[in-house]
Amino acid sequence: MILKSLKSKFSKNYKKKNWPGLIEAYKKYLPVDKKTPIITLKEGNTPLIFSEKLSNLMGNNTKIYLKYDGLNPTGSFKDRGMTMAISKAKEEGCEAVICASTGNTSAAAAAYAARGGLKSYVLIPDGFVAQGKLAQALMYGAEVLSIKGNFDEALEIVRELSDKYPITLVNSVNPYRIEGQKTAAFEIVDDLSFAPDWLCIPMGNAGNITAYWKGFKEYSKKYKNLILPKMMGFQSSGSAPLVNNIVVKEPDTIATAIRIGNPVNRDKAKLVKKESGGDFQAVTDTEIINAYKFLAKEGVFCEPASAASVAGLIKNKNRIKKDSKIVCVLTGNGLKDPDCAIKNNDAIFQKNIEPSLKNISKKLGY
Ligand SMILES: *Cc1c(COP(=O)(O)O)cnc(C)c1O
Repeated sequence: MILKSLKSKFSKNYKKKNWPGLIEAYKKYLPVDKKTPIITLKEGNTPLIFSEKLSNLMGNNTKIYLKYDGLNPTGSFKDRGMTMAISKAKEEGCEAVICASTGNTSAAAAAYAARGGLKSYVLIPDGFVAQGKLAQALMYGAEVLSIKGNFDEALEIVRELSDKYPITLVNSVNPYRIEGQKTAAFEIVDDLSFAPDWLCIPMGNAGNITAYWKGFKEYSKKYKNLILPKMMGFQSSGSAPLVNNIVVKEPDTIATAIRIGNPVNRDKAKLVKKESGGDFQAVTDTEIINAYKFLAKEGVFCEPASAASVAGLIKNKNRIKKDSKIVCVLTGNGLKDPDCAIKNNDAIFQKNIEPSLKNISKKLGY
């Protein structure tokens, strides 16, 4: 169903070059007012890319779109939540923020804290944070504590620290994070002029699936003919507490961004699944890597955790109804985790080549 009024309004008001950042663009829907200092790096307004290869693979006249949130300023959707969380922290007079992170939250927290002139502390699980993310946290000037434990243990500690000391917690238990992140759902509807039949999304702490659902529901109050999507959440089979309804003591997956055994938004996510008529499923690391490589062959490079949404889609091929419109959320940029890419690709990469025309022509098969 085409939402005409909405389409014309947004294409008129927000030509790409004038994009003001998501708080300014969607302030009517966000808990901000004139007193709120807006800390922004012009996040949001990320592309919704039609995937011809995936659409063909799914068949049945299905149209698959990729919401490429890896194009946010620090390379993941976490920027959407962080612009809100840091702006509100600043408004409330706080001077320092803290988070536990599998990497992307720390990168975003450090960047927005730097932008807003706040101190940031981050706790990360030693050895399980992708290189790019660690580089970001260090460069943006966070104080980084790498702990001999996993994400869930780190989160427990930062929750207590933020209760005891004047430090604002910016993990997705912070309600402003969800508020900022819901704008991704607005953007999808603004782009398509309808909501997709399915939204496929990876789940770690399940803040993002909660946020998208909130966004779709809020737009449906305004645009009464909006049909809400089924929310399809995917986890890695080695780290699938929501799929199996358990706590995973030692989560294990190549997709480090969703290596979480006890999601803080568990109850909210359950409600999303129920209200939307969606489903939660696990995909293996092999399926994740296959989807990761498949996407790159169409020119879209995301990080492994993001590819879980596409791995999940592919797994459900037989359940997709004819003419479906589906959005897969690509939560983070492939450059975040170069090690994973270098280890998992099918490229021809020849080394130690003598630099002569003759030799190279031969190597290339001419
Ligand atoms: C944080 C993150 C996730 C998981 O999001 P949740 O809100 O914790 O479910 C997925 N992919 C990437 C790249 C992330 O950084």
